[in-house]
Amino acid sequence: PRADIGVTGLAVMGRNLARNFARNGHVTALYNRTQSRVDELIEQFGDEGDFVPSTDLKSFVASLKRPRRIMIMVKAGKATDAVIDELVPLLEEGDIVIDGGNAHFDDTRRREQALKAKGLHFVGTGVSGGEEGALNGPSIMPGGSKESYEALGPILESIAVAVDGTPCCTYVGPDGAGHFVKMVHNGIEYADMQLIAEAYELLRQGLGKTPAELADVFRTWNEGDLESFLIEITARVLDKTHPGADGSPVPLVDLIVDAAEQKGTGRWTVQTALELGVPTTGIAEAVFARSLSGSVDQRKAVQAAGTLVGPTGGSLAGAEAEGFVDAVRDALYASKVVAYAQGFDMIQAGSDQYGWDVDKGAMATIWRGGCIIRAQFLNRIKEAYDKDAHLASLLLDEYFAAAVGNAQDSWRRVVATAVRLGIPVPGFSSALSYYDGLRRERLGAALVQGQRDLFGAHTYGRVDKPGTFHTLWSGDGSEERQDAH
Ligand code: NDP
Repeated sequence: PRADIGVTGLAVMGRNLARNFARNGHVTALYNRTQSRVDELIEQFGDEGDFVPSTDLKSFVASLKRPRRIMIMVKAGKATDAVIDELVPLLEEGDIVIDGGNAHFDDTRRREQALKAKGLHFVGTGVSGGEEGALNGPSIMPGGSKESYEALGPILESIAVAVDGTPCCTYVGPDGAGHFVKMVHNGIEYADMQLIAEAYELLRQGLGKTPAELADVFRTWNEGDLESFLIEITARVLDKTHPGADGSPVPLVDLIVDAAEQKGTGRWTVQTALELGVPTTGIAEAVFARSLSGSVDQRKAVQAAGTLVGPTGGSLAGAEAEGFVDAVRDALYASKVVAYAQGFDMIQAGSDQYGWDVDKGAMATIWRGGCIIRAQFLNRIKEAYDKDAHLASLLLDEYFAAAVGNAQDSWRRVVATAVRLGIPVPGFSSALSYYDGLRRERLGAALVQGQRDLFGAHTYGRVDKPGTFHTLWSGDGSEERQDAH
C-alpha cells in the first residue's frame, strides 16, 4: 500500500479535494460508487499528481498506508452512514475516517462514538469555500480526537489556503466541534448577506441609486473596514447586466426573482441556538428574512390586495439624503460586528455544553481565507481574543466597542429612516436592539417575571435580598420565600 490519503465520493467537492491532495504531493487513493467518476478524474486530471484509482472499496482500503486516512465526500445524511457502514468492517484499529460533508454536528457526535467503540478515529470536518475552494485551498475545520489530528493535520493543512503564511486549518475540538463551527460559520454567512442586502435595498429605494452606482459604493466600502469577499462579490453582482425582454441590457439583479432560497445550515444554526439559549438574533433574522422572501404567493396576495398601507414619501431628498451612504456603511459595519459577536458567543456556548474547549481566536484565524465569510475584519477578532480569550462579548474589546460606539448615531439614524420610509431592515434593527439590550440595566424582564409568578407561580428573585419568592396573588397578597429555609 502506498497511498497517503483516500477520497471516496468524487462529485464536485470530492474530486476537487482529491486533486488538491495530489497536487500537494500526497499519493491519493480514489473510489466512487459509480466507476465513471473515478475514470473521468484520471482521464482529465490524472497527470496532476499521483493517484491510485480503485474499482472496489476493498482494494481502495488496501491501497492506503496505515493508519489509513479516508475522506468521505458523499451526500450528507443517510449516504454518509451507508458509506461508513461499508467501510468500517474493512478497517483496522487506529484508522481515520474523515467526513468532509455538511453533516449536522449531532450526527458527527453519534458517528464518532460508534467508531471510537471500534477503535477507529472519526473526524467530522467542516470544509468551506465551495468547489473552487476545494481545489485551490479551502478553509478546513476538523473535529475529532487530538491523536487523529497528529496523523491527519499536516495533510489537511497542506491543502488549506494560507493567509500571511498561516494555513486556514487547525484542530477545532473533540467529536462534533468541527461541524458545529462550520455550522456557525454558515449562520454568520446568512447574517452577513442579509445585512448587505438591507444596505443595498435602503440605498436603492431610499436614495434611488442604480445598481451600477451601488456597485461603485460597495467597491469603495471594500477598501475600508468592510473589506471582505462578500462585499467584493456584491459589487460584481450589481455590475452585471443581461439582455432584458427587448434585448437591451438590464441589471441582472432586476432580472432575478426576489425570493431567497436556503439549503438548511442557517436553520440548523438557529435551531441549535434556540436549544443552547444563545441570542443569535442576526442569524435568526436572516433565516426568517429568507423565509419571508420565499413566501411568494403570500407576498403576491398582499401586494394584489393593496390593503396593507405604508408611509407616504418613499425616498430621501435634500439634507435628509446628505451623508446617508456613509451612515448606511456605519450601520452595516456595526450590525456585522453584532452578528459576529453573537456567532462567537454561540461557539462558546456549544464548546461549554459539549466540553470542546474551542479556541475562538483560532477560529477567526482559519476563517480569514478560503471560506465565504473571509474578511480583513477577522484579524481584529483574532487580536481581540489574543488579548483576552475570555472576553464576555466581542463587543467589549476596545476596538469593537469603539467601532460600534462611533457608528451608533449613524446606526440609529439609518434604522429610524428605514422605519419611516417603510423599508424592512430586520438585520440592522435587531442588531441595534441587541446592542441596546446588552447595554441597558433593565429590559422589562422584571415585569415578565412578575407576570409569570402571577399566572403560573413561577417565582422570582429580588434585587434587595437573596432567595426565591412567590407572591400569594389570589391569597392575601403577601410574599412567601420558596427556596429551602
Ligand atoms: P453531492 O452532495 O451531490 O453527493 C454526490 C456524491 O455522493 C457522489 O459521489 C455519489 O456517488 C455519492 N453518494 C450518494 N449517495 C451514496 C451512497 N448511498 N453510497 C455511496 N455514495 C453515495 O456532492 P458534492 O460534491 O456537492 O458534496 C459532497 C459533500 O460536501 C456534501 O455533504 C456537501 O454537503 C458537502 N459540501 C458541499 C459544498 C459545495 O459547495 N457543493 C461545500 C462544502 C461542503 P455516485 O457518483 O455513485 O452517485
